[in-house]
Parts: sequence; C-alpha cells; structure tokens
Amino acid sequence: MQEEVPGESELRRAMVQAALELDARGLNRGTSGNVGVRCGECILVTPSGVPARDLTAQGMVLLAANGDVIGAGRPSSEWRFHRDILSSRPDVHAVVHVHSPFATTLACLGLEIPPFHYMIAAAGGDTIRCAPYALFGTQELSDHALAALEDRRACLLANHGMIATGRDLDHALALCVEVESLCEQYWRARQIAEPHHLSNAQMAEVMERFKTYGPHAQGERATP
Ligand code: 13P
Ligand code: ZN
Repeated sequence: MQEEVPGESELRRAMVQAALELDARGLNRGTSGNVGVRCGECILVTPSGVPARDLTAQGMVLLAANGDVIGAGRPSSEWRFHRDILSSRPDVHAVVHVHSPFATTLACLGLEIPPFHYMIAAAGGDTIRCAPYALFGTQELSDHALAALEDRRACLLANHGMIATGRDLDHALALCVEVESLCEQYWRARQIAEPHHLSNAQMAEVMERFKTYGPHAQGERATP
C-alpha cells in the first residue's frame, strides 16, 4: 500500500510537535537541537535559536534544495547538515538533532558505540559512529556528519550531540529516543566494565531479522 505523502502544512505542524516532544522527553533543552524534513523538492527546518515552546508552524523555514531561504525566517544554524543529509540520502525524509544527556556525554568522550546490545543495529550497522568535532553550523561539521552516517541512520557528533534520521519524523524521533537509551545503557555498563561486544556474525543475524520485524517490514529494510 502506498503511504500518503504529508503536505507542507502538515509537515510544519508535525515539526512543532516533534520539537515539543524532544523537549518534553529531556532530549533537548532551551534552544539546543533542531529538526529538518523533506518537503517535495525543498526542505523545512526549524528556525535558529527559538525554544521549542515558542515554535509555530508558520515559523518553520522553507529552503530550496541548495539551502537558499525561500520566503522569510532565519534557518537553524545547522541547515547545512539537514540539506546535505536530505540531498544525499533519498531514503531519509526527516533529520532530528539533539544534545541529549547520555549521547552527548559519550560524544564528549569521542566514543563510537560498539555492538554491546543488539539494538545498535537499529541505527543501521554494527556501531554508532562519532563524527570528529567541528564548529556548529559549519560545512566541516556537515561533512563529518555525512561520513559518520554512511550506511547508518544515526551518529554522534564529538563534543556536541547526536543526529538521528528516518523515513519520516516519527521514525527519526523513535530512533533518537532509542539511541539515547542505548547511550545510557552503554554508559551504565561502562561504570562496571566494558560490556561484551556481539560479533559481526551476530549483528548480521540481527540485521537480517529486522527485515521481517514490525508492521513496516517489507523484507528490504534492515532496521525496525
Ligand atoms: P539552532 O538553534 O541554530 O538550530 O542551533 C542549535 C544547535 O543545536 C546547533 O548545533
Ligand atoms: Zn547542536
């Protein structure tokens, strides 16, 4: 069955809801983080420096595929990675960026998250990479993020936070929550010792199993 493509107004409203949910779940605070979605040939991103509670559907900023602002508004300082991820990854329709506590803690240590739990595969592979540090809002940060996201749906950003992507906003948000929870579990385990890592073969088996897991399973997508 063909999924219905949401229109621009619906996307704008969903972005406000997503930002509020990120805030309510403690994944973002103040003006940290941002959200971007594909809107036809264009991109919608949250405005820069606006706390979630002050966001409005009209306040979302529409960008052309090259990143030029269409109409009014000052886009998120991270519009470059939203643009670059959406343009280079046709499978991705939504990008969520957070400074969530546990992901950011591990990102500040520059840690790649190893396959200590099978759900690491939900982010698309055997590890969740940590992109090297670069100043927020720069093309350098976007380039690092894109490399860390190769064959992955999420990554950490050193000394900064996390990016999660999805086929729609709900999917990206769910992965964001999952990655934060994995980072918390990994952090907790590391208080005792480095946890046991699953083997490449065990992770490959999980990826295979994910193809038939859940209501969206189509036998081709290797993530829940
Ligand atoms: P914006 O308010 O410009 O989106 O910036 C927040 C942020 O998280 C920068 O990395
Ligand atoms: Zn940030």
